[in-house]
Amino acid sequence: MIPRFAPTYTYEDLWISLAKSIRSNPSEELRYRLAELYRVKHVFLLESARVALFVLLKAYSRPGGVLMPAYNCIAVPEAVHFAGYRPVFIDLDEDSLNVSVDSMTRLISDDISVVLLTHLFGIPCEVSELLDVFRGQDVLVVEDAAPALGAEYRGRLVGTFGDAAIISFHSTKVISGEVGGALLVKDDELAGKITSLLQATFIANGCLNLFPKTFIRKVATNPKIYPMTQLGYRLLRNEDPYEVVQPQTKKPSKFLSSCPSYASSLILAQFDRLEWNLRRRRKIANIYIEGLSNLPEVKLPKIPKECSPAWIQFPIFTENKQSFYKFMQRHNIDVTWTYRYSCAESYEQEGFPNARRAALTVLGLPTYPMISDDLAQAVCQVARKYPHG
Ligand SMILES: *Cc1c(COP(=O)(O)O)cnc(C)c1O
Repeated sequence: MIPRFAPTYTYEDLWISLAKSIRSNPSEELRYRLAELYRVKHVFLLESARVALFVLLKAYSRPGGVLMPAYNCIAVPEAVHFAGYRPVFIDLDEDSLNVSVDSMTRLISDDISVVLLTHLFGIPCEVSELLDVFRGQDVLVVEDAAPALGAEYRGRLVGTFGDAAIISFHSTKVISGEVGGALLVKDDELAGKITSLLQATFIANGCLNLFPKTFIRKVATNPKIYPMTQLGYRLLRNEDPYEVVQPQTKKPSKFLSSCPSYASSLILAQFDRLEWNLRRRRKIANIYIEGLSNLPEVKLPKIPKECSPAWIQFPIFTENKQSFYKFMQRHNIDVTWTYRYSCAESYEQEGFPNARRAALTVLGLPTYPMISDDLAQAVCQVARKYPHG
């Protein structure tokens, strides 16, 4: 069975990272590598991208509205809320997974202090055009590049356009570190505030509990063992195709944590393979684009021109999400539900029909680098057999 997600690390990476993280803390080296890649002066490593966003907003210290897409990871508005700001949602552009310049323009007001430009699923948003909307405005522009490590827009890395950016290394992202997030900041003064904030409240995070987690994840996503893992998913969690998620309103204790040394080490072990990782993901996505265009039951997302996505998965719009999901399952292909909710609905706000429709219709095909071309072709062949009408 083809798993929906498989971590990008090898068994060897796990052993090497364990040994390395016991001897030293490689976080400094990881910070250096990220600063070099993004040509940015200030890089902070946190436990996750949501914590990175929280830290940034706390340090910026101008509570107000934070513009963000309504179809998004719920952890984003939660972190905004924990930091004392207010999420302000934008509906998706019709039939795309991006927000339009028009809808951004309409929502900008004195009340907005921060804007999130989100590269959902690693697909760049029209970042230059969106930036133009905020030029000269007194807002902090933050790129949510959590799923978009290495993605490019017009030949330039996303995460380098805004005033700051967040990147995630959680297990389903471009590089899996199990946990981990980076905060990239351009402004010296803001970076200084972040440094003092982290000094004052920093909780060092233990690491040895992570090794067993990564090991189990690796075993559980072995294609031979995966059918059991899948059964576990179904028994232990509800796998409804759509739900209204209740947002967390209270910040968990120890929320503000650093990136554990084991995770830094694991991310670093895979850093030299980043180009290969991205090349594989793009190749797999191209196979899906070729193999799935012109199908009556599957619509492909609109991708902005001149961009190279990082594709943490390949989102497709289906007429009947549940029946397509089950059909693929019967043919041993596990696809992801992606976000099964609209954040706007979680925060009891109405008038976001496209976000709701995305939650009801979007599924994700696997794009992790270990999927071979043949396997990607096989996924297309199965999808093409999906009965329509
Ligand atoms: C995964 C993701 C996040 C959250 O990242 P964490 O590291 O899990 O906190 C935020 N935004 C987007 C768009 C994501 O895909």
